[in-house]
Amino acid sequence: MSRPCCSRCARPLSHCLCALVPRLASRTRVLILQHPAEVSHALNTARLAGLALSNGELRVGETFSELAAELAHGTWRSCLLFPGAEAMPLAELAQGGPPLQLIVPDGTWRKARRILHLNPPLAALPRVALPEGLSSRYRLRKAPMAGALSTLEAIVCALNILEGAGRFDAMLRPFEALIEGQIAAMGEAVYRRNHGGDPAG
Ligand SMILES: [Zn+2]
Repeated sequence: MSRPCCSRCARPLSHCLCALVPRLASRTRVLILQHPAEVSHALNTARLAGLALSNGELRVGETFSELAAELAHGTWRSCLLFPGAEAMPLAELAQGGPPLQLIVPDGTWRKARRILHLNPPLAALPRVALPEGLSSRYRLRKAPMAGALSTLEAIVCALNILEGAGRFDAMLRPFEALIEGQIAAMGEAVYRRNHGGDPAG
């Protein structure tokens, strides 16, 4: 009974967001590690981020055994976007040096912690954090990023800090459409409750 979905953005075909997703080049590589519990969530913002970045990749899983070799032999300066006492401000990495690979766990705080626990090479990476006091345009459930940003918003914020203010804002367009769609759907549900039953059925 599932509705046909777009194979690219995973939204129902009638709500495909692909036309709003830009394709942007970045010097920084972005590797998103998505917990499997996030895949089917309606607000899968990590997927939108992966689609928008030509130098981005999204992997789904809990353990990423290939990472140890990749991190050891890669040409990137890898760091983990994750808040904590030992995390340094991301802006300190913006000046010079080899290109960065920003590794971003995607999931609730607990799931993101679990990914780190199961992947010691990740847990050992230097950590970077976004400035404090940022808040999401949308009230999301518990997110691992400081200020409870969605994963997409956190990535846009990080890339803007590293590569130029506003450069990656276009990535937020499908996110905004998604939120507007959710609010519209919520309105419809309230309408049905108040007016007795499903008008379509
Ligand atoms: Zn699509």
